[in-house]
Order: sequence, then structure tokens, then C-alpha cells
Amino acid sequence: MKDLLKNLTESYGPSGNEEKIRNVIKELVEPYSDEIKIDAMGNLIVRKKGPGKKLMFAAHMDEIGLIVTNIDEKGFIRFSNIGGVSPYVLLGERVIFENGTVGVIGVEKLEDIKELKMKKLFIDIGASSKEEAMEKVKIGDMATYYRECTFLGKSISAKSLDDRAGCAVLIKALKEVKNPKYDLYFVFTTQEEVGTRGARTSAYAIEPDLAIAVDVTLCGDTPEGEKMAVELGKGPAVKIKDMSVLSHPEVKQLLIDTAEKNKIPYQKEVLDMGGTDAGAIHLTKEGVPSGGIAIPTRYVHTPSEMVNLDDLENTVKLILALIEQ
Ligand SMILES: [Zn+2]
Repeated sequence: MKDLLKNLTESYGPSGNEEKIRNVIKELVEPYSDEIKIDAMGNLIVRKKGPGKKLMFAAHMDEIGLIVTNIDEKGFIRFSNIGGVSPYVLLGERVIFENGTVGVIGVEKLEDIKELKMKKLFIDIGASSKEEAMEKVKIGDMATYYRECTFLGKSISAKSLDDRAGCAVLIKALKEVKNPKYDLYFVFTTQEEVGTRGARTSAYAIEPDLAIAVDVTLCGDTPEGEKMAVELGKGPAVKIKDMSVLSHPEVKQLLIDTAEKNKIPYQKEVLDMGGTDAGAIHLTKEGVPSGGIAIPTRYVHTPSEMVNLDDLENTVKLILALIEQ
């Protein structure tokens, strides 16, 4: 699991630019799948045939990032955000472009920290002119956080654990599943961070009988943190709701019953902000009974997101118990 997480989180793949991370995942899942498809939206759809109904799991492989809007005469790069990036998080940060170019984030002089907006920031790639900068970076290019995956006891800190942690869990479940009772579709979706776009088209094509999104959720266990009943290390959280979906009662109950029957620790996720792929999937065609498994995560959308190794293993266990029962 540790090697897998390091490999996935240190790969590049902001929304709409998922080719690199998709290639990494494709290589990992190929030996364990019966069928692999990449659709027009770039989703990686991996099928493991089984006798029963069509069960779709979705984990998004895209990550938040920055997109170049302008390059000035001195070679400083202005940018906008791809997904939920806070200017406060970007101060002093390093970012990396698809071609490996690294830049540091600088800020204009501020009278008051409250003046800090995305447009006060710029990327410095060490170029001394526009021409020199444009040899490496063009308008429209995207960058992601540049940060190493680190292990802190049972905790893992890395960029893009949202949702490469979910991808890791699905990859591991796919490797370990022996007797699936469902016709399984593991979908590594694109463009979740900009509005669950990949999930929408992949669900339309698959027409699942049941769908479960595997994504991260917030924790309420840090000092003066969110008022949220999810803690790191207490097990995967069964999604009750977020801003995009109210989990189908039967899917919710199925997950809870499966966890209890197999003595897998679990929590309940009631999320007041944000959504996930289940939001798009459950509204497909005539509707798809959908729910979610949420991985407790601290510091979401920062370069140092944090998950717990036991939570990940228990998420794999829950998925395996569900598909083999
Ligand atoms: Zn996510």
C-alpha cells in the first residue's frame, strides 16, 4: 500500500490533464482486469466480470491545480485555479508542470494579509524574460503542488490523496478480489474537481445497477476543527450525504450491514460542503441507486493532505466484503 500511495500521489494529473496518472494506473490494473476502456472524457474504465448485477465503483484520478493565464515581460507567470485551491495555501509553495518544470509561488507586497487573492500571486520558474519562460511554460499549461509523499507512523502525508487514496483502494481491491458476485466496473474518473464531469459520462455508458464513489472526506478531530463526526483512524465513513447526493437508503444500509457483519470499523459521513462522483452518477438516465465510502482525510486540498494506513486497509476490506458476499 505504501509504495502504491507514493507512486500515485507523486504522479501528475490535474483535471483535464490526466494522461500521466492514467498511464500509471492502467499499467497497475492491466494484469487483473478482463476489459479496459478509455472513453472520450479520459475516464479509465476497468471491468472485472462477475455473474450478478452491474456494480460501479468510482474514484477520481484528477487533482486540483493551477492554470497559466499570462506571462509578463520578466518571465513571471500569472495563473488561475483548477478546482478548490486557496491562495493562503499557495504562499511559499512549489508547483510542477507536466514537463517537469518546477516553480515557486511569490506574492506582491500586501498591506494586509486580507488582501491576499489569487491575482496577487505569481509563479517564478527562474526565467529572466518572457521568451525564456515560454520555452518551458505556455499559456494554458497546468501545474500541481510539488510535494513528496511522507509516512508519519500510521499516517501518510502527500498531495493529491484526494483522490489517489481512493484510487489506491480500488486498485488493491481489484488485485485481491477472488469471487466477485457482481459484474464489476472500477472507474478511475476525470475532472471530478471541476464538477464530477468524468463520472457523468462513464455512468451513462456503463448503466450500473448500483454505484459507489470512493473519495476522501473531512475530519473533525483537529484542534478547533470542523464540527464533524469523522476521525482519522476510526475506519472508512459510509456516506449519508454531501452537497451533491443523499445516499440511496439501500446502498447506505448495505454498506453498514457489510461493515458490521465483517467487524470492520466504520463511521458515518454527513458532509456540509463539497460533493463527489456519486452526485453525477445517481442522476444518470432514470437514476442509479448510489452511495459512497469516504476516507477520513485531514488538510484536504493542501499539499499535505493526511490519511491513515489502517483506514485504507479497512476500506479495501469493506469493498472486498461487499463484492464477495
Ligand atoms: Zn475528491
